[in-house]
Amino acid sequence: MDLPGTIEPTNGSGLHPWLMDLLFVLHWKYNKDEIKILSGYRTSETNAQLEGAALNSQHMRAMALDIHIPDVDNDAVARDVKTFIYAAWECTPGRDFVHCDFGPLRSWVG
Ligand SMILES: [Zn+2]
Repeated sequence: MDLPGTIEPTNGSGLHPWLMDLLFVLHWKYNKDEIKILSGYRTSETNAQLEGAALNSQHMRAMALDIHIPDVDNDAVARDVKTFIYAAWECTPGRDFVHCDFGPLRSWVG
């Protein structure tokens, strides 16, 4: 699934600092030159236009990231996030990226 162009200004709220922890640890573990962020904050308008996105997506609260580390298996990334960071993280590995959030909603599909 390709979700281009879904990183938007957060109108002052910014991404949650825990999301920065996530990127920090993944960089520390894999030491790659690049961590691709395919989606971060989304406005409700953008979210509504995305096929498969949950209506109440955590992306709209700036509390979710869709990431991919080149040459690293998405399943491994999802496992590592839960192992090394916060077990409460919900990480859903997909074909092209891993969706990570720590919201209470567990019905996310895209
Ligand atoms: Zn996502």
